[in-house]
Amino acid sequence: MTPMIAYRPRHIYVESRIRRAPVTERILRALPGCTTHEIRDHRKLDGEPLPFTGYSAAIKRNVLILAHHPGPCVRPFPGSREGPEPREFYIAHANGCPFDCQYCFLQGYFDHGAPVLFVNRPDLLKELTAHLGRTAANGPAVYHAGELSDALALEGWSGFAAAAVPLFRDFPAAELELRTKCARVEALLPTGPPPNVTVSWTLTPREAWKRCEHRTPDPLARLRSARAVREMGYRIGIRLDPALIYPGWEKGYKRLIQQIHEHLGPHGAESFVIGGFRYSRELGTRIRQRFPAGTLLAPEFVRCEDGKNRYFRPLRVALYRTIIEQIRGHDPKARIRLCMETDQVHTDVFGARQAGGTPPP
Ligand code: SF4
Repeated sequence: MTPMIAYRPRHIYVESRIRRAPVTERILRALPGCTTHEIRDHRKLDGEPLPFTGYSAAIKRNVLILAHHPGPCVRPFPGSREGPEPREFYIAHANGCPFDCQYCFLQGYFDHGAPVLFVNRPDLLKELTAHLGRTAANGPAVYHAGELSDALALEGWSGFAAAAVPLFRDFPAAELELRTKCARVEALLPTGPPPNVTVSWTLTPREAWKRCEHRTPDPLARLRSARAVREMGYRIGIRLDPALIYPGWEKGYKRLIQQIHEHLGPHGAESFVIGGFRYSRELGTRIRQRFPAGTLLAPEFVRCEDGKNRYFRPLRVALYRTIIEQIRGHDPKARIRLCMETDQVHTDVFGARQAGGTPPP
């Protein structure tokens, strides 16, 4: 099965220890024209015979790295601070993805842009199963598979999500969220999913997509895929994170919310999560270097307690209120959460903090 995105690397870096892994063999067979370079450790690429020279679009577009995840691959989700024990986790099945969103926080996180796919899939699934057994037995727990990568961008090669979805059937207290910007993923996912799996789509209005989300599928194509996946029995989430301020954003979001409801129906999305664009100092530096003509950092920002820059508070309150008003206009009972926001902003927007809203770390 090939991935449902127009991504074809030219160079594959393979760690020697997983050179004979079944997923590696399958990918190398599917990409016969690629040059293959064996490497010792994907974390030390500057010491390899073909070293990388920093973060670049060319590396992101042309190189795929196949590696062994040294583990643990299930980790507490940053910012999940509610309660004494973490109940929210992410699964590190890949680092980075072949898309190139201007705002992607991973640009400030990894030294290079090349996606790293962890092909020791049996180890990852074994660890996930053990984690579910330990954690989901003690109450509700949420697992995200789209934190350090798009959850489905490499699925056609990795098959990780297809193998992980059935595991959740035995752990009804746990939830799996597969967050993606992909289209045409319906062929990659198993039919008859357990009820505790959500496939969520990150969306921005068309103008913002054109400016900021390089190589990602058209938002309408994503919505068509969301409709098809919903018909397969999956729960659908809509993630407006980052929500962006740009000239004409009000109209853009109005149209986007309309399109979401046209494609999914009035109660078709089980939840909406909204998070204003925010950036660390490292990410800001990288965005300025890589996109000097970009306007992402043009609005007024303030440095918040967690060190991240966010839109000036009145701007983000206006952004959230406008989007929420549009959503509620279609579905007054829609479940809406703000992501990584302060108590003050929750109060300004909702009158009080919503249950399950994620505070800034
Ligand atoms: S799809 Fe997600 S992980 Fe991939 S570049 Fe865009 S923001 Fe980053």
